[in-house]
Amino acid sequence: MNVVVAVDGPAGTGKSSVSRGLARALQARYLDTGAMYRIVTLAVLRAGIDLHDESAVGATATTAELSVGYDPDVDRCYLGGEDVSTEIRRDAVTRAVSAVSSVPAVRSRLVELQREFADGSSSIVVEGRDIGTVVLPDADLKIFLTATAETRARRRNDQNIAAGLPDNYEGVLADVRRRDHLDSNREVSPLRPASDAVVVDTSEMTEAEVIAHLLELVQQRSEALR
Ligand code: C5P
Repeated sequence: MNVVVAVDGPAGTGKSSVSRGLARALQARYLDTGAMYRIVTLAVLRAGIDLHDESAVGATATTAELSVGYDPDVDRCYLGGEDVSTEIRRDAVTRAVSAVSSVPAVRSRLVELQREFADGSSSIVVEGRDIGTVVLPDADLKIFLTATAETRARRRNDQNIAAGLPDNYEGVLADVRRRDHLDSNREVSPLRPASDAVVVDTSEMTEAEVIAHLLELVQQRSEALR
């Protein structure tokens, strides 16, 4: 049976690893909507557009040729045919993405694309911030992951250190708080759980425990839908 799972939540809850792991276990497709906001942000930065110029930022989202892969094990993010999978994870994009994603024209364009990409005859795990509330309100299962800001900053800082970046816990914590604030307070699609989402606090759980728990939830949901 095919299932559509929406996984939302703030940065650093383990959302990406957990969503990929869940897709792998279900042999489902995986869609990373954050990557789509990052690709548009990269296009905006490359064009030298002022981040406050909403109409120019919105126009970039409308014209940018972006595509993403569905394989949870391989990052494939393209801008106009160029593989930008590594570049969209760099600091410059991370710093600018909240501003770009708060522009209504950007959101409406990307939501439309996300619905197209998520459509299909096989199971899919869609990861983002507004999947359960806006993009796929009819998803079979909606998960909202949370964790304390300190836990999320510690995890992100550990990842950075493993990737060869300097240890900077305080800086990462400040960035987590800044992005939480921007994402939760924007006018269009603020970050919040859907009323029918299952909220899972991952602060005291390992990645494997979270995936196992979500698999159980998918199973329960599939049985209820049968
Ligand atoms: O998931 P990731 O951290 O890569 O997302 C980058 C940014 O994209 C988020 O901080 C948020 O501003 C934006 N985003 C969003 N809606 C989504 C996914 C991501 O606004 N569905």
